Amino acid sequence: MLKVILLILAILLVYWLFWGQRKKNSTDGSADKSAPASPEKMVICAHCQLHVPESECVTAEGRHYCCDEHARLGQS
Ligand SMILES: [Zn+2]
Repeated sequence: MLKVILLILAILLVYWLFWGQRKKNSTDGSADKSAPASPEKMVICAHCQLHVPESECVTAEGRHYCCDEHARLGQS
């Protein structure tokens, strides 16, 4: 009976290590660090040089801006 318990514990340990490794690899550089090191591309506002994520930037005439206001100012 003891052998069975030891075997189960060994299997659980292997699974735990395996999933621990997988989890560590999949969340590497995102969940552990407090600062979000997002893989998203950053663009620079052509008006104020602020760095903004590409998904949040305003694109006008091939240039990137941090907001609509700067897009308008940059074009004038
Ligand atoms: Zn700006």
